Amino acid sequence: MEIFDLTIHELHDKLKAKEVSSVEATRAMLDRIEAVDGQVNAYITVTPEQALVEAEAADRRIAAGDIAPLTGIPMGLKDIFITKGVRTTCGSRILENFVPPYDGTAVAKLKEQGVVIVGKLNQDEFAMGSSNESSYFGPVKNPWNLECTPGGSSGGSAAAIAARTATATLGTDTGGSIRQPASHCSCVGVKPTYGRVSRYGVIAYASSLDQVGPLTRDVTDAAILLGAVAGYDPKDSTSVNTPVPDYLAGLKTGVKGLKIGLPKQYFIEGLDPDVKRAMDEAIALYKSLGAELREVSLPHTEYAVATYYLIATAEASSNLARYDGVRFGHRADEIRGLKEMYAKTRAEGFGSEVKRRIMLGTYALSSGYYDAYYVKAQKVRTLIMQDFLNAFNEVDVLLTPIAPTPPFKIGEKLADPLQMYLSDIFTIPVNLAGTCGISIPAGFSAAGLPIGLQLIGKPFGEATILSTAYAFEQETQWHLKKAPL
Ligand code: GLN
Repeated sequence: MEIFDLTIHELHDKLKAKEVSSVEATRAMLDRIEAVDGQVNAYITVTPEQALVEAEAADRRIAAGDIAPLTGIPMGLKDIFITKGVRTTCGSRILENFVPPYDGTAVAKLKEQGVVIVGKLNQDEFAMGSSNESSYFGPVKNPWNLECTPGGSSGGSAAAIAARTATATLGTDTGGSIRQPASHCSCVGVKPTYGRVSRYGVIAYASSLDQVGPLTRDVTDAAILLGAVAGYDPKDSTSVNTPVPDYLAGLKTGVKGLKIGLPKQYFIEGLDPDVKRAMDEAIALYKSLGAELREVSLPHTEYAVATYYLIATAEASSNLARYDGVRFGHRADEIRGLKEMYAKTRAEGFGSEVKRRIMLGTYALSSGYYDAYYVKAQKVRTLIMQDFLNAFNEVDVLLTPIAPTPPFKIGEKLADPLQMYLSDIFTIPVNLAGTCGISIPAGFSAAGLPIGLQLIGKPFGEATILSTAYAFEQETQWHLKKAPL
């Protein structure tokens, strides 16, 4: 086992026992990035000098007997996280040279524990996408098959786990962007309840949907990392002031007597046969462990994608108005007057998917259409939320696929945005409802591509989905398989 193969908890034990130092672990990770990232393109920016300084500081801390669960662990961050003094692009040309003056809350919490940040990870531009192909910095390749996409938008964050170029990473999930790439790269990804993790210092895409969460090699690591970043933050007025449970301590609760719901709208005709088989096997396993499985209904599921693409684009059109060449990032040259500066800067700075979304969102918010589109979408969102609350009156957890198919080829869905949007059909409703979900490795297709399983929990039910996932992981080997890189 190489140092870069280890989980957070395995590396922590070795750091604590002084079998390895953080500098050694960090060097091993930087060498690994150097060796394989040329093929994967998971990193937009690698920060070797800073990482080694942080690793030395972590080693001093460990020598003094002060080790937290993440002290000295080499991590990568999706390039949507604002990092003090380190370029933060959000995958966009418009922020190509943007160096923020502060750290966001999640990053600051990691730094307090003494994490080593090895670099900033590739993503779809402004987190808009499901394949990482909209990044200005080029597509990310799936380490399980370099012709396939790793999913998106946190594609770099998931690919880095699979390529073993980070021990763990942070991503964000607005409509599936942690869970879907986790599924496509065979790692664990958690989308926490809206308000569980602070969004302060996270570049906004759709503010009523965005959440920060971990991507890791196993469920134990997800519990550790979620626990590290969760909690109330006065700097984010939507963060919720409820205590953060000890996720790690709760992992071994088991699933005996747990009521697991199977939403009938998620097990439809047209589900890929390999995905269907993986779900059937997971259902059988949970039954054998003593869980009670029953069908439930989420009747408004069919409206979720349309609702999401009105609300998310409306919020994006407003959030992205700030990129106009005045305060942040790129500004066009040779401009005559303010209006032309705005127009030229935005025309040059944004890619085509971002432009499409700004136009859609602006249209949905414009006078005369606002009631017909935006207000209607908000009403449907309430119905979708209600569906979940009704289901959770009957069951504790929902089990569904993450994506209708295994990872698809690079370029396959680029010509048809609607096909791309439909690949998030099973993850989007969770964001609209504001509740939590986890993706865990649940098998492989006949072609050897990863398949993920989703467990959806009640609002603030992260501890339950983590322990339900842990029970599955204990009985399966999927999370131990390594991408052939
Ligand atoms: N694929 C979805 C979108 O393009 C979700 C992205 C995300 O969760 N950031 O909006």
